[in-house]
Amino acid sequence: MKVINPATEEVITQLQTMDAQDLPRIIGFLREGQKNWAKKPVTERLGCIIRFGELIQQNLEELAHILTSETGKPLQQSLNEIQGAQNRIDHLQDNAEKWLAPETLVDSGNTHEKIEYEPLGVIANISAWNFPYNVGYNVFLYALTAGNSVLYKPSEFASLTGKQFEKYLWQAGVPKNVFRCVIGGGDLGQHILKEDLDGYFFTGSYRTGLHIARTVAHKLVPVQLELGGKDPLYVMDDVAHVRQAAINAAEGAFYNNGQSCCAVERIYVSSAIHDEFVQSLVTEVNSYTVGDPTDLETYIGPLTRVQQLEVLTNQIADALDRGAILKTGGQRMDRKGYYFEPTVLVNCDASMKVMQEESFGPIIGIQKVSSDSEALELMKDTDYGLTAAVFSSDQRRALKVLERLDVGTAYWNCCDQVSPNVPWSGRKHSGLGATLSAQGIRAFVQPKSYHLRP
Ligand code: NDP
Repeated sequence: MKVINPATEEVITQLQTMDAQDLPRIIGFLREGQKNWAKKPVTERLGCIIRFGELIQQNLEELAHILTSETGKPLQQSLNEIQGAQNRIDHLQDNAEKWLAPETLVDSGNTHEKIEYEPLGVIANISAWNFPYNVGYNVFLYALTAGNSVLYKPSEFASLTGKQFEKYLWQAGVPKNVFRCVIGGGDLGQHILKEDLDGYFFTGSYRTGLHIARTVAHKLVPVQLELGGKDPLYVMDDVAHVRQAAINAAEGAFYNNGQSCCAVERIYVSSAIHDEFVQSLVTEVNSYTVGDPTDLETYIGPLTRVQQLEVLTNQIADALDRGAILKTGGQRMDRKGYYFEPTVLVNCDASMKVMQEESFGPIIGIQKVSSDSEALELMKDTDYGLTAAVFSSDQRRALKVLERLDVGTAYWNCCDQVSPNVPWSGRKHSGLGATLSAQGIRAFVQPKSYHLRP
C-alpha cells in the first residue's frame, strides 16, 4: 500500500498490507493474550497506558511530523492533537479504577446483590484518519484499560500513525497478544467483519457505519458507531461580540481544514447582524495562512484525500446554481498537493448540498434568518445529530433552541469541542453508543449480576 503525502503528492513509503487469511490466527493470538490481560489488576493495565502516554509525549515532535506527512494536517495542529489527546489518559488515570470496580447494591440480612464488570473479550477498532489520536484513544485506550484485547485497523490514510500506536503500546508493556495494528484498506475492514470478534467499534462515515452494523448484526455483539455530521451554528441578534463570534465560528468550520466530525458545517445568522458577521468571518478566513503543513505558521494545509476536492467543487457549483453568493475561495488551488481555497458562501438555503451533505473540507455556507423559530427549524433539518451550537448573550434563550435539537452535544458560545468528562455520542445518522466519560469505559465491559445468599 502506497502512503502518499497529500501536500506533495509524493509516495512517502510503501507498507505491506495484511493478508486477510492471517486474521483468524491473529485473533486467536489476541484471544489467548486477553485471558491473562483481564486477570491483571486495573492499576497494572492502567500503568501501561500511562507509560504509553509518557512515551508519546517524549516523542511528540517525531510523531507530529509522521501525522502531518500522511494526512497533511498542519504541524501545529498535529502537535495540538497529540498533546491534547493526553487528557484521555489523565482522565482514565483519575477515574478508571472507580468506574471498573465491582458495585454492591444491597448488602443486608441474607440479601447480597452486586455487579461486576467483565471485559467483552477481543474487540475490533476500525478507525478514521482525521484525528487518529483523539478517536483512536477514545476506543483502544478505554478498551485496553477495561481488560480487552484490541484488533486495531487504522484508516489507510493514517497507517503510519497506527503503527506508532502499536510500537509504543508494546514498549509501554501492553503484550503483543493484546494489541495488534493491522494494515490495509476498506477490503481488510470488510474481512474483519466476518471474523469472530466480541465487539465492533467504528469511527467513520455513516455509509460505512451502516454497512458494518448490518453485516455484523447476526452476531449480536456490541456495535458502536461514531459517525459524521452536518453540525449547525446559530448566531443570535443579541450576541455580545459579533466579531468574536465570527472568529470562533470560522475556527469551528476551518480547523483541520474542516475535516472534523464536529466541524461547523452550516451557519445561520440573525438578519440584524448578518452583514457584520459575514464581513468579520470573511476577514478572518482570508487571514489564514495556507501552505506547507510542515510550516508552524500554516493554518490550512492540503486535504487528506484527493477525492474530496471533487465533492467540494460539486457542492459549490450546486450552491451557486441555486443562488448562493461566493464571498471568498471557491476552487482547487493551482499548486501541487490537494489544496482547496478556504471558501465562504452566503445567501445559502436548505435546497443546497452545502447545507445538507457533509462537506468535510474548508467550505462554509451561511444563511440569514429572521427569528429563533426559523433558525430552529433549519437546524433540525438534517438526518445527522452530532452537535449544534448557539451564540447569544442570553443562556436561557440559547438553551431554548438547544434543548429542542436531537443531538448528542450542545454548545453555548463555543463549538467543535470534545472533553473526556462528558460522553461523546451521535444521534440518528451520527452514530450509536458513546465514548469518553464513565459511559465510554462501560462500553467495553459487560455487567454480571450476582445474587448471593450467605
Ligand atoms: P470511512 O467510513 O470511509 O472509513 C472509516 C474506516 O472504515 C477506515 O478505517 C476504512 O478503511 C474502513 N472501511 C472502509 N470500508 C470498510 C468496510 N467495507 N468494512 C469495514 N471497514 C471499512 O470514513 P473516513 O475515513 O472517510 O472518515 C471520515 C468520516 O468519519 C466522516 O464522516 C467523519 O465525520 C467521521 N468521523 C466521526 C467521528 C465521531 O466521533 N463521530 C470522528 C472522526 C470522524 P480505509 O480508510 O482504509 O478505506
